[in-house]
Amino acid sequence: MSVAENFRTIKGDLPSGCKLIAVTKTHPVEVILEAYNAGHRLFGENKVQEMLPKHGSMPKDIEWHLIGHLQTNKVRYIAPFISLIHSVDSYRLLQEINKQGEKIKRQISCLLQVHIAEEESKFGLSEEEVLAIIAERGIEGSSWVRIEGLMGMATLTADKDQIRKEFRKLRAFFEKLTLMNLPSNVKMNDLSMGMSDDYRIALEEGSTMIRVGSAIFGQRQYNR
Ligand SMILES: *Cc1c(COP(=O)(O)O)cnc(C)c1O
Repeated sequence: MSVAENFRTIKGDLPSGCKLIAVTKTHPVEVILEAYNAGHRLFGENKVQEMLPKHGSMPKDIEWHLIGHLQTNKVRYIAPFISLIHSVDSYRLLQEINKQGEKIKRQISCLLQVHIAEEESKFGLSEEEVLAIIAERGIEGSSWVRIEGLMGMATLTADKDQIRKEFRKLRAFFEKLTLMNLPSNVKMNDLSMGMSDDYRIALEEGSTMIRVGSAIFGQRQYNR
């Protein structure tokens, strides 16, 4: 199957209002252009150093999403153009994004990454840390960031029940936050969960944004 066909198949699975982020890491711009020419505009990369040259050489109406761990010293490179940072996993990072946004007078949209997997190695905040950032630390003063929702990655396992359980827990937390009295720059608009192997489960469990790479572009040469 071609990139354009894969892309159409996955789009066909999407409930209305859900977004597909095409994850292009390790793939060259020629391949990405196939999805672009099929009409796609939302692309995700997990590394700043890979996103920058692609952003530079691809059409300017693309919305770039950063989905991987972001180091504070790299924020300034993407601040001028990034559409959404999915992977905010510390208050320190959020403060740096706010600082860089203020410098260029651009409000930057973010998701808070919540740790839902069993593996200890995955990045992300606990529910308590999310609540502390939103409630206790006066996020409202950081007016150059806008929190648009949450992101999570399930455990890398063949156990579908386990994956479903983790997505369901994140959706429940998302809904709990929706009911809270949130600061003005915090909205629960999007829940980013689901990748090539588990996006169907994620959609059933209420994802609004899936991040799909290999199911569109084929296997990567090297892994994350
Ligand atoms: C690579 C990656 C994806 C997409 O992975 P696939 O399994 O290729 O769909 C999604 N989210 C993050 C954070 C990633 O790093």
